[in-house]
Amino acid sequence: MSKPQDEALHHILTSAQLPTLLTMAVRLLELTSKEDVALADIVDCIAQDMALSAKILKVANSSFYNFQQQITTVSQAVTLLGINAVRSLVLNFTFLSLDKQPENSLFNLEMFWERSLVGATAAKMLATHVPEVDPDTLFTIGLLQNIGQLIFALTMPTRYNTVLEQLATGDRDVDETELEEEVLALSHTDLGAEVAKAWGLPSAIMAAIRHHHAPDTYAGNDPYERKIVNIVFLSNLVTKIFYAYDPQRLYQQLHDQADRLFGLNDPTLKNFLAIIHSEIARSAHFFEVPINSVRPVPEIIQEANIRLSMLHHSYEEMHRELIRAKQELEAIRKQLTEKNLLLERLVNIDGLTEIYNHRYFQTFLSSEINRAISKHGSLSIILADIDYFKQFNDDYGHQTGDFILKELCVVAKKAIRQYDLMARYGGEEFVFVLPETSCDTAMIVAHRLCHAIAENDFTDGYRHFRVTVSLGVASAAPVSTGFDQNEFIAQADRALYKAKHLGRNQAVLHQLAPPSDPLGL
Ligand code: GH3
Ligand code: MG
Ligand code: MG
Repeated sequence: MSKPQDEALHHILTSAQLPTLLTMAVRLLELTSKEDVALADIVDCIAQDMALSAKILKVANSSFYNFQQQITTVSQAVTLLGINAVRSLVLNFTFLSLDKQPENSLFNLEMFWERSLVGATAAKMLATHVPEVDPDTLFTIGLLQNIGQLIFALTMPTRYNTVLEQLATGDRDVDETELEEEVLALSHTDLGAEVAKAWGLPSAIMAAIRHHHAPDTYAGNDPYERKIVNIVFLSNLVTKIFYAYDPQRLYQQLHDQADRLFGLNDPTLKNFLAIIHSEIARSAHFFEVPINSVRPVPEIIQEANIRLSMLHHSYEEMHRELIRAKQELEAIRKQLTEKNLLLERLVNIDGLTEIYNHRYFQTFLSSEINRAISKHGSLSIILADIDYFKQFNDDYGHQTGDFILKELCVVAKKAIRQYDLMARYGGEEFVFVLPETSCDTAMIVAHRLCHAIAENDFTDGYRHFRVTVSLGVASAAPVSTGFDQNEFIAQADRALYKAKHLGRNQAVLHQLAPPSDPLGL
């Protein structure tokens, strides 16, 4: 044992709160450990405690033993039931009399005894399937397997509360004995074994208490002790099934271990589990232990399976819900993108001709000017105005005029490059922005536009129309300081004015005014 373990154990074993066994029980243990014990001595010893004797006789006459004959004296009980059975009864009643609720403790004493009784009954029933072990002795050991927990609660309640809290709130997989060793320097299995030793209980009981969580840690070579350790280990698994959140997992573990340790087959185990709850109820009745939550194991397993499938079901539901929500979100995002595009169109596109509007033209021109500045490039713009359009409207009606405006856009767009911009400047005026285009090229484009429109047969299906445009062209190689966008447009406008002046249906390039020309035309 390590030093902290030793210290913890010393503290507990010398604690005033450590329960002592009845003097009678201690004496009985001493007597029964002798090879040549006289029955009369045992009977005398038990008979000294009248209350306990009465309890023993009550159980001896109950269906717990199924004796046909009435047992009226302790002597008869010892003769008929045997020393082992009577000793077990004495010990059972002695242990169950430890019914003082530990002070300042979260320990649930009633639940402790309920669980201990389940363990005791399981151990007793399992013992009937294992040769050369006494079921009554196993009942007693099963009852006592977790006595260390009660001792912790009685002797170091505050520190043990930490363990209880963590067990109640923590991860279900937390290992109880590891946690105890961490917090208390000692596990309830080691403590239980040491207390059993201090009480003078036989070494098989000590071994079973010490190793009932991990039977493979039993290093002794007594086959009888090994059997007992294994039975109590299985009884602990059975007990857990009654109280665990995931009994199926424990059932599987029990199934595997019962097969490994004793070769217990599946039907035997199933049969055992199908009736154990009623055996527990009987034990509880005879030993007057109140039990609340012991139900048939098959029912517990089935309920857990339903719970699991419901959990699965709700998981699938959640998954479906999530996919649905994701799809909805995707649809909303798509709608939003479409709405944004529409909004962008409404802001930047001209309603009648469906080409860019004046606002967009200004923004586009501004960014193209900046690009030309940074690239030391040139750009050109063309303003185009339909000739005599007022008259056209007057002659053919405003609707036909609208038709011409729309058609003209289609024709003009075909005459420019993809990255040139055509916008409606206003009324029957259009503007073209030609990035990276010198004045010569711009003039070629302007002429092309002029011809394309003049030569186009505008027809609404049964009438044919001709329109011409006048175009003003301005070119620039802007530099960063003081390039005036409005002045640039005004230059094109002045060239357009000149084209009108010169007879329309033609393109004119704006040229820097010679000093003699005050109009700058
Ligand atoms: P000019 O050759 O000097 O340009 O003569 P014009 O008649 O084209 O010039 P003016 O500026 O006097 O008239 C422009 C006409 O364009 C007036 C208006 O009826 C017409 N117009 C402007 N916007 C629209 C429109 O959206 N639809 C139609 N159908 N006509 C329009
Ligand atoms: Mg005009
Ligand atoms: Mg006009």
